[in-house]
Amino acid sequence: MPAYVAGKPPAERPGLVTYKLSSNENPYPPLDGVVEVAAEAARRVNRYPDAGSAELYEALSASYQVPVEEVALSTGAVALIFQLVSAYTGPDDEVVFAWRSFEAYPIAVLAAGATAVKVPVTADGRHDLDAMADAITERTKVVFVCTPNNPTGTSVTQTELDAFLAKVPEHVLVVVDEAYAEFVRMDDAVDGVATYRGRSNVVVLRTFSKAYGLAGFRVGYALAPAPIAATLRAMALPFGVNVVAQAAGVASLERQAELLARVDDLTVERARVVEGVRAAGWDIPDAQGNFVWFALGSEDRCAEFAAAADEAGLMVRPYAPEGVRVSIGEVEANTRFIELLASLPR
Ligand SMILES: *Cc1c(COP(=O)(O)O)cnc(C)c1O
Repeated sequence: MPAYVAGKPPAERPGLVTYKLSSNENPYPPLDGVVEVAAEAARRVNRYPDAGSAELYEALSASYQVPVEEVALSTGAVALIFQLVSAYTGPDDEVVFAWRSFEAYPIAVLAAGATAVKVPVTADGRHDLDAMADAITERTKVVFVCTPNNPTGTSVTQTELDAFLAKVPEHVLVVVDEAYAEFVRMDDAVDGVATYRGRSNVVVLRTFSKAYGLAGFRVGYALAPAPIAATLRAMALPFGVNVVAQAAGVASLERQAELLARVDDLTVERARVVEGVRAAGWDIPDAQGNFVWFALGSEDRCAEFAAAADEAGLMVRPYAPEGVRVSIGEVEANTRFIELLASLPR
């Protein structure tokens, strides 16, 4: 089994404030109101959490205007990926996804004993949906479409997704992983919720980890047709979503407007970073998540890039040999990063 490689924390640099740009976390600390609710919930940790996470299910159902039966909560969207792949695949089955894409997919597939079919992304880091459709065989059980794609940052359009779904046989589950949905600012953006409604084979994954800034609490959810959502709930570890995470999730949905305003600010900051990077002479793909991607194409260039950033007090995330991903962080971190780029060999 390959280990999941997590983004590292920055090394200490005396005299320098260091920044973690390696895990696509939200640089904003949680809202005070959310922290208070979480702290209050921590007083109840001698008891098991509500096994059914009823309040959080209700809040999500109300927020998306979907029946509660179509929601499945778990300990992060990562857990839902494992639950889904274990429920629906086994030896002799194939799972198709783009590559590079989210690192948890091949691990979940291997854990289920199934076979990963990796379809290379295009030169500009986009899903090659035609090639992915062609890769579907009668052994295929699940296809992941990661949009925005982690780590390359590009999104598919709704038109492209619809055309793809029209080609996928109905017995193949299509998982639209929208971990960064709230950060998307483009024409013809995917509307995952509208996409899964009215289809029997589409699952949407969302998370509180990125836009909502609750990565440390581990809570994510799927929106899916009721039978699939029921399967995902059945595959979850009992009492997985803890009492603090449930409370923080509900409190965050109550403060959605304030949290999404921060996401707006992050997308403005992302635009500044993309512009700065391009002005420094680097050709990078469209960035629809809270990160930018450098397709460096060799082990050496990835190592050199990451080491220079580390030296400057910025921890980035190399994916050798393909490239390096850099999260949008604090303004000071982003500015330092743009300045650093001028001195790096292109
Ligand atoms: C971060 C991420 C997730 C899930 O994160 P959780 O913290 O487990 O909710 C899922 N998919 C992609 C593509 C991600 O980048």
